[in-house]
Amino acid sequence: RNTYSYYTSHMNQCAQRRIVIEEQFNNALIKNELSVYFQPKIDIKTLKIMGAEALLRWKNPVLGQISPNEFISIAEQTGHIIALGKFVLQQALAQTSRWQKLFNSNFQIAVNLSPRQFRDPQLLTFIADSLKKYNISADKLELEITEGVLISGHSYVDKILSGLNNQGITMAMDDFGTGYSSLSYLRTYPFDVLKIDRSFISEESPSDKTNALINGIISMSHALGLKVVAEGIETTQQFEQLKAFGCDYAQGYLFSKPISADDMTHLLAVNQHKNITIK
Ligand code: C2E
Ligand code: MG
Ligand code: MG
Repeated sequence: RNTYSYYTSHMNQCAQRRIVIEEQFNNALIKNELSVYFQPKIDIKTLKIMGAEALLRWKNPVLGQISPNEFISIAEQTGHIIALGKFVLQQALAQTSRWQKLFNSNFQIAVNLSPRQFRDPQLLTFIADSLKKYNISADKLELEITEGVLISGHSYVDKILSGLNNQGITMAMDDFGTGYSSLSYLRTYPFDVLKIDRSFISEESPSDKTNALINGIISMSHALGLKVVAEGIETTQQFEQLKAFGCDYAQGYLFSKPISADDMTHLLAVNQHKNITIK
């Protein structure tokens, strides 16, 4: 209508890939194609593993390994994310219960929550029941949300966030520094942890501006009583800089990529006697 737009073959390819992903994803859970991987989080002061982030993996016979960056947004739109989210939470808590018994009763597990999950009326009870089932105390579960959840401004989001806070669950703001990163979110909502986005950490030789921002985010978080996690640490230089800035926890390929539950068990066993190795 009084306008025009370009059509490209790339758009066609994207649409087709999306259709195939949607098709294949329909039965992925039933067909056991999904698994939960774990990426360790390191306490920067002690160099011990203090917890892990649960990250979904999907391996499909037709499409191969597909990145969550690609399928999570589709699962959001189709609504599959509700079942997926439940699957990840249960798997993550089951493993955490084992690791707490075997290695460290304070082991903390972080699980990502998508905006659509906030529309699930059973979310709060499902989480409370799952914590009970696996005998995990609420503060050992950290739920990571991005600002996408808060931007909608829906009243049910507020209700769920205070419900989670009342249960004593740890709340983390994920990917901070990208998007709007509105400071009013930090003032309004009950966050305990802030995760600095990988894009800030991953610069090969960070500019003075980047360092000033990281330093500022860490000081501001501490003043607000929040702990800080830096994600995407790949080099010792990045690690040393974050340590000097007083960052609390570190996550990244420097320590370990996301790994299977069995590999994580092995890593935890080794880490009991020996600090994590920095490659
Ligand atoms: P995220 O929550 O910010 O997770 C961190 C991502 O950074 C993970 O990507 C992790 O593998 C990657 N990463 C960590 N350290 C490094 C590093 O040193 N270098 C590089 N290059 N990457 C690093 P992944 O597993 O591909 O997940 C991508 C995103 O997909 C996640 O970002 C999260 O938003 C979403 N996602 C993954 N699993 C779940 C899930 O179970 N539920 C929901 N709702 N979203 C999930
Ligand atoms: Mg995350
Ligand atoms: Mg993140």
